[in-house]
Amino acid sequence: MGFADFHGNQETVRRMREMLGRDRFPHAVIISGPEGAGKYTLAQMCAKTMNCLTAPVNDGLPDFCGTCSNCVRIAAADNLEEHFQEAVEVWETLRDVDKKDTRILIQTHPEVMIIPPDPPQMLIKVGQVRKVIENVYFKPVEGRRKVYIFTESSFMKEAANALLKVLEEPPEFASLILLTTNPGELLPTIRSRCVSFTLAALPNQEVETYLTSKRADLEPRQRKLIARLAEGAIGRAQRFALAEYITARNDALTLLRSAVQESDHTELFKTTDSYRSGAEGKTKTEQLIRTAYSLLEDLLLLRCGSDDLVRNIDIQAELAKLSGQISFDWIYSAANQLAQVEWGMRRNLLRSLSLDAFAVALEQSEKLFGALAK
Ligand SMILES: [Zn+2]
Repeated sequence: MGFADFHGNQETVRRMREMLGRDRFPHAVIISGPEGAGKYTLAQMCAKTMNCLTAPVNDGLPDFCGTCSNCVRIAAADNLEEHFQEAVEVWETLRDVDKKDTRILIQTHPEVMIIPPDPPQMLIKVGQVRKVIENVYFKPVEGRRKVYIFTESSFMKEAANALLKVLEEPPEFASLILLTTNPGELLPTIRSRCVSFTLAALPNQEVETYLTSKRADLEPRQRKLIARLAEGAIGRAQRFALAEYITARNDALTLLRSAVQESDHTELFKTTDSYRSGAEGKTKTEQLIRTAYSLLEDLLLLRCGSDDLVRNIDIQAELAKLSGQISFDWIYSAANQLAQVEWGMRRNLLRSLSLDAFAVALEQSEKLFGALAK
């Protein structure tokens, strides 16, 4: 156990450990990188190292033992998703008046506080930052350093301003770590007060090698496919649900094919009809949108002749055929339409309706572009 368990981006990890070693870990840190790159895992590893009771040194750099009481209690929050779901479920049972005043925070060790986006808007709110302010100026008691991990960078305006106040005068013994897939989302005044670390996407081959050691249950061709679909993120590769992905992708293909080929829409409506209501429908639709984006990206790559960058390699021949029937403009328009569906979903429009609208709009844009081409 320790930093040796972290895969990829070794240069960044080494830089962070050097700072930990000199006891000069910054008060404010941004860790950016794609989803599943290991931002949260790395932040947790830093929190453990700062508070580990045995403070081991490996390769001349500070590490954590993973077994002392501090490491174990901090590690209790390693599974962020699970804790977050639990916290949200508790929040949902509250009376409406209490909901307003209750903010989601995860804390399994007194010196480490995790701040996820708060429902229902899934933004970091001022109430959460106030909790951090209430807590941050008290010296650590059970560890050496207080750590605050903000798991997303979508802040409400008031919350971002409150955070800025802390960043202007952080106490000696605290570090705030902001995780983000898009640093541009943070206020420039926040960014300028933070030291930034970036976790880059790993090459396909590296992800595939990792899968060979960790997912022996998969066939080599499945590992090859997942390595591409995970887009260089170990975390995504690790938990990639291939069967679910392929189911969603089949539906996305039906949608795209129906738009391109203008055949009768029985198949299309049968597909979109299964995407109706509830939380399950929402997850399903999100998956469909995600796979549709990945198909559009591949179609674009095929149109450009960059065949070697295609991710959905198991259906490459079919995609190549489809890409021959469409134009760049069509792909551009399809991506825009897809963004509309996403927008509609956020506003809770009827999902199947917006999916049907998506397919119909695609077909019309194809006619339009076809007419323009003539
Ligand atoms: Zn320890």
